[in-house]
Amino acid sequence: MHLKDFDISKLEKRFKTILRVEISTDEKGEAVQQTLLVIRGKKDGPILLLTGGVHGDEFEGPQTIMNLFHEIEPEKLSGSLVGLVIANEPAYEDANRCNPIDGKNLARVFPGDPKGSVTEQIAYWMGEILISKADYYIDFHSSGSDSEMPQMCGYFKCNSTGNKLTSQDMAEAFRAKVTWAHPDFAEGRTLSYAYDHVIPAIYSECPSTRCVSKNDLEVYLRGALNVMKLIGMMQGKLEGSPSKYYLSGNGDTDQCVSATTDGFFQPDKNLLDLVKKGESLGTIKSLSGELLEEIFSPIQGYVGMRRMLPSTHVGDSLFMIADGFKS
Ligand SMILES: [Zn+2]
Repeated sequence: MHLKDFDISKLEKRFKTILRVEISTDEKGEAVQQTLLVIRGKKDGPILLLTGGVHGDEFEGPQTIMNLFHEIEPEKLSGSLVGLVIANEPAYEDANRCNPIDGKNLARVFPGDPKGSVTEQIAYWMGEILISKADYYIDFHSSGSDSEMPQMCGYFKCNSTGNKLTSQDMAEAFRAKVTWAHPDFAEGRTLSYAYDHVIPAIYSECPSTRCVSKNDLEVYLRGALNVMKLIGMMQGKLEGSPSKYYLSGNGDTDQCVSATTDGFFQPDKNLLDLVKKGESLGTIKSLSGELLEEIFSPIQGYVGMRRMLPSTHVGDSLFMIADGFKS
């Protein structure tokens, strides 16, 4: 069936359901599909949507959703857990951030277009059928192939949700090492779509690259279960320690440092290092080892992302520097 025909109310309570849904077609006319894992609990309660694989080279989210689906018993669940294991399967098959069919980044095209390219169609139906129908939403990401980020949970600060718990409540319950608040929302994201539909939503990041580390997986599983406890889907106390770092910033504009030359990049700072404004962060060299560009921090703050891939071109993001704050 097509994702547009997915209706959670038609699934039986106290059951787990595995669905393969069509969402578009590729250039050969073959179906582009997604796997939905749904648990309807014994009692009524909220719908929590989990998505992984918005970027096809990030594997912690898919593993987290698969594990939760197999571990959680419907008898102990209030409400429904909807897991979209891999949002962008063509990108996953290619182990690439973007969809190889149209070259697009799914995290930049929301709200999508039902008559657009494959990635735009995926965004449209994900938004229309899954995100806008959820009560709460977690989008699992990770550093991907080229860069490194700390174990973190991020949210848009300005999400007013009436009587519901807020995105900030969810982020703090997730209990990652870092909680990162973004003062303004960035266009085209899953979370900006959720923001527009007043759905409390968070996303997660972790350092592992093209693999799933046991430690990151444990943090993601614990984080999702903590959110489920917070919103009343499961019983029990939140586990883990509250975040060690509370960061703020949009991760773009002047807080993101990009390459202004092609070359061989080497970072000199580690994740979460506290750096001063104007402090050197790394270098780009020619292949004969001559210095082409030295990278300086535009503000005082913490290193929230650093590029790891040496092969670098003009415009590539090298660092994100975030302000520290206490919530
Ligand atoms: Zn991602």
